[in-house]
Amino acid sequence: TTSLPGDVAVAVIGGGQAGLATGYYLQRAGLVSGEDFVILDAAEQPGGAWPRMWDGLRLFSPATHSSLPGWMMPPWDDATRGFPPRDHVVNYLKRYEERYDLRVRRPYQVTSVDRAANDDPTGPLVVRTKQNNVAARVVVSATGTWTRPFWPHYAGADTFTGQQLHTVQYRRPEDFTGRRVAVVGGGNSGAQVLAEVSAVTDTVWLTNRTPRFLLDDVDGRALFAAATQRVQALRDGTDHPGVGGLGDIVMIPSVRAARERGDLHARPMFSRLTPTGVAWADGTHLDVDAIIWCTGFRPALGHLRSLRLGTTDGHYRLGGPADTQALDEPRLHLIGYGDWAGPASATLIGAGRTAREVTRVVLDQLRE
Ligand code: FAD
Repeated sequence: TTSLPGDVAVAVIGGGQAGLATGYYLQRAGLVSGEDFVILDAAEQPGGAWPRMWDGLRLFSPATHSSLPGWMMPPWDDATRGFPPRDHVVNYLKRYEERYDLRVRRPYQVTSVDRAANDDPTGPLVVRTKQNNVAARVVVSATGTWTRPFWPHYAGADTFTGQQLHTVQYRRPEDFTGRRVAVVGGGNSGAQVLAEVSAVTDTVWLTNRTPRFLLDDVDGRALFAAATQRVQALRDGTDHPGVGGLGDIVMIPSVRAARERGDLHARPMFSRLTPTGVAWADGTHLDVDAIIWCTGFRPALGHLRSLRLGTTDGHYRLGGPADTQALDEPRLHLIGYGDWAGPASATLIGAGRTAREVTRVVLDQLRE
């Protein structure tokens, strides 16, 4: 790590897909990475959350529909090989940042973003890292959700003597051979993990609502199309009937295979854990050796706490021309955390659209 520039026009926090897409548009507008803007990332290696996901993870859309702006993800998908695996995405993101010379600075963990002592709202924000600080006229936060796994609280959780882990710690099914495993969570992660673990050992799938499966020939492209229609409907002032969110399960081959084996049956959530397993309110008990909590994530926003931004529905209040600007701190934009920070901006194909909008507003701010 060489030291960072002392001041820049734009600091992008996070060098995953959302940060890279933002860097792409900044670069295209003539700003130079390392001089006019900087992308900071806490991790040692490229790829955002992807290198930390489990070995057998598959995208839920083909490569043609999983691309960032400018350069398509190289093809992978065909009838026999299925959708791209994790490492295909990691390689793509690594090559993407090289291709556009985005010079992501690693490992730089941003610890806080602060207003200057006698803050002039037209002055810069101070981005603090463990090494040195950067003054930035505009900050784009793109730190994702992977570093903030969500574990729901259940009574007895600390009495269970088996193994408990979250999606972020899960690596491969073989680690569970011969054990009885409860997989908790009815989204795509839960379904994919259940599918591969149930192929090697005895499993039970537990969800707090009935899982919603997409039709076999429908994939992530449909989810993105639905998000796009919703953007349009919001613009037109009408609402779009709730077509599935990213929670709807895409029937990738491993999930279909689990269904063929009869393993894809979800049971309602238990009400508590016991030393040897899980128990329901009606007194039913099930012994399990391990519980994998595929219960999702929360936005990783600890570095923004110092700005004391107001919230609505548990999220920072955003607005501005692209709906990504913090209402309480216009020098700050958020991208990639979920639909509330740009519709579909937490997908590979959707990050680009929000990044383009964010960059347009940021350039206007810099001209002011
Ligand atoms: P991340 O990829 O998480 O990148 C954020 C970066 O910020 C990281 O590199 C991190 O090191 C860094 N960072 C965090 N905090 C700090 C800090 N304080 N200072 C500096 N750096 C920091 N999307 C699809 O399009 N298709 C799919 O098939 C698909 N499958 C998915 C499967 C799973 C299991 C999951 C969890 C997600 C999936 N997604 C999929 C959704 C989406 O693409 C990812 O969540 C994506 O990783 C979000 O990108 P991001 O750039 O916003 O965040």
